[in-house]
Amino acid sequence: MDMSSFLKAIPKVSLHLHLMGSIQAATVVDLAKKHGVSLPDFDEPEDLYDYPDIYKFLHMYDNSALAIVDRDDFRRIAYETLAEAAEHNVRYREMFFNPTTHMAAGVPYETAVDGLIDGIRDAESDHGIVCRLIAAVNRMETPELAMTMVDTLVEHPRAEVIGIGMDYAEGEFPPERFWKAYRLAKANGLRLTAHASEDAPPRNIETCLDLLGCERIDHGYHVIESEAIMQRCVDEEVVFTCTPVSTAWVYFGDDLANHPIKTMAARGIKLMLDCDDPPMFKTNPSKDFILAAEHMGFGPADFRRFMLNGIDGCWVDDSTKAAWRTSYAADFDALAAQLDA
Ligand SMILES: [Zn+2]
Repeated sequence: MDMSSFLKAIPKVSLHLHLMGSIQAATVVDLAKKHGVSLPDFDEPEDLYDYPDIYKFLHMYDNSALAIVDRDDFRRIAYETLAEAAEHNVRYREMFFNPTTHMAAGVPYETAVDGLIDGIRDAESDHGIVCRLIAAVNRMETPELAMTMVDTLVEHPRAEVIGIGMDYAEGEFPPERFWKAYRLAKANGLRLTAHASEDAPPRNIETCLDLLGCERIDHGYHVIESEAIMQRCVDEEVVFTCTPVSTAWVYFGDDLANHPIKTMAARGIKLMLDCDDPPMFKTNPSKDFILAAEHMGFGPADFRRFMLNGIDGCWVDDSTKAAWRTSYAADFDALAAQLDA
């Protein structure tokens, strides 16, 4: 078996993937037609995911949300991304979605979340993949809106919605703005994560850990600029969810060999790999692994460790984690034995 086939076949957990960023362009176009929504600035599905910078990207992201309207639309998009993930042997996913984006587009929270849950249940019964949801704060919006989002989650509890996260552009929108929303979420039993130090200083990581109470860090690449914070994260075994392809394009000169993930792994940061917004960055749940192997020099032992790190970072109970560590490792090792020398 060659390395690419091996990396596609190995069992995976997925902790860093955004619902809106995982919709195939053809599905967005299809749903826009269904609802008579016009999507400005493009004519063909191939044009939709073509953009020169992060702000254009986020603009397209928000525009696409206007095409996702009814409960069945949400069922369809959740189902499609999970069916694709199952082809790459993703067995468990904690998926971000942005309730306030859909609410701003006029969609009631219950319509969105219950549609997603329909898709999650259908994908589990058809493909065996299990998925839970993380409601993400759009950090470019106000702290008050984040509070409203958490209030909404609390008013409409769903077993599948297990935590909150924070996404969108970080530079001018630091994490401390949202400490109240994080306190409220924690007080209501929700788990906590945040995108931090993706394109901002490493102190944002400490703000997320200490002020917001985050249990893991999404991205975190600038941690390599602070010896003290890096050592702390190693010592405390903070799990980092890293996405090579989507961030190389934006921040690291499109050369994965220069990506900080390499240094983070060498220094003992407990990281796992995922694919962020796969069709939008022309990747998929295996391609990030394959490119990381080709450009960063990671081998089977690294991917085995990343897999186990991901399991440790999952918001499931300890007995489930222990069972997964055993079963995933056994399947991984059986596949590794078939790797070409
Ligand atoms: Zn992300």
